[in-house]
Amino acid sequence: MSRIVYVNGTYLPEEEARVSIFDRGFLFADGVYEVTSVLDGRLVDFDGHAARLERSLSELEMDSPVGRSELLDIHRELVTRNGLTEGMIYLQITRGTADRDFAFPEGATPTLVMFTQATPLIDRPAARNGIRVISIPDMRWARRDIKTVQLLYPSMGKMAAKKAGADDAWMVEEDFVTEGTSNNAWIVRDGRIVTRHLSTEILHGITRAAVLRLAAEAQMVVEERPFSLAEARAADEAFVTSASTFVTPVVEIDGAPVGDGTPGPVARRLRELYIAEMRAAAI
Ligand code: PMP
Repeated sequence: MSRIVYVNGTYLPEEEARVSIFDRGFLFADGVYEVTSVLDGRLVDFDGHAARLERSLSELEMDSPVGRSELLDIHRELVTRNGLTEGMIYLQITRGTADRDFAFPEGATPTLVMFTQATPLIDRPAARNGIRVISIPDMRWARRDIKTVQLLYPSMGKMAAKKAGADDAWMVEEDFVTEGTSNNAWIVRDGRIVTRHLSTEILHGITRAAVLRLAAEAQMVVEERPFSLAEARAADEAFVTSASTFVTPVVEIDGAPVGDGTPGPVARRLRELYIAEMRAAAI
């Protein structure tokens, strides 16, 4: 069944949606994106995603074609038009269309594209069984705090994982884990929850921020600091967070089991807390 998608002010069937070959998103990966989850037909942490989008745009001196409230209206309209109850909304803004030139064009109109993707978020095999990760060097650019559409290296990481019979990859820089290819990385050691501190080296995950808050509210001990691959391998538990996977246990790193090799109690509890809170707060 064809979806209704949004392109620059118009809702239309996906087959009819078009973006110019001169779009800078296509030519230079000159664009940013967000993925917002939908639970029970409502948006999860919309304000968090909108705030990060505004920051990504401003770091790249890019204009937004619409304000936050209009953006919310478009998200809701897409949910309604597609009858989406559970899944994601993908949003991409590029600098727009101009003759090919490295310098940013003056006066280009940004391109805004949005579409829905229906997929189960709560009931997932990965959440029940955990995922297996491999480690790879982090060879991305150094502004990982900006959510740009240049995702080739993470795609290569996912393919390396697939070829190794694993589910995903954790990226490592100078022995320390930065993050997963499309998620933030966490470990649990002696009852303490550890995730890397915010900097330009990782994406400031919206799910990460919510889980940090929920863990603190539940009186769990959390440390925001770098952890090494060796420390992760010796951890009692590991897990990842992202808008589309919520909290998902990691049960194997580079072929060796994490803890007893099954999803741990901290990851399970945080997943439950996260889902309960987001269900209640979704708009
Ligand atoms: N790190 C990277 C590299 C990502 O691509 C993502 C997901 N887009 C995340 C972390 C998690 O961010 P969020 O919780 O906002 O989805």
